[in-house]
Amino acid sequence: MVPTMETKQKQGKDIKVLATFIAVYCRGKHQSAKGELCPDCAELLRYATMKREKCPLDPKPSCKHCRVHCYGKAQRATIREVMAYSGKHLLLRGRLDLVWHYFF
Ligand SMILES: [Zn+2]
Repeated sequence: MVPTMETKQKQGKDIKVLATFIAVYCRGKHQSAKGELCPDCAELLRYATMKREKCPLDPKPSCKHCRVHCYGKAQRATIREVMAYSGKHLLLRGRLDLVWHYFF
């Protein structure tokens, strides 16, 4: 399947949201510098990006409602922790727009 422009744009947006969640988590939990990720979080972002690009469903449902469950067990546990942590953080800062779309 050749991704359409629209699909590509949606992917780009989702990946940006993912990067935001992981960056918030990494800064809070791992004391990484602004704009940087520790090696673990960088790897998680790489993994999540790869999964998002390969998502066979279009439109993609929120991951909670997805029937594919493409994440490995360990990555799924980690990303859930990231979402919970950063979701709370972003909620407190009024960034509901980011949270809604991607909540696991
Ligand atoms: Zn980290």
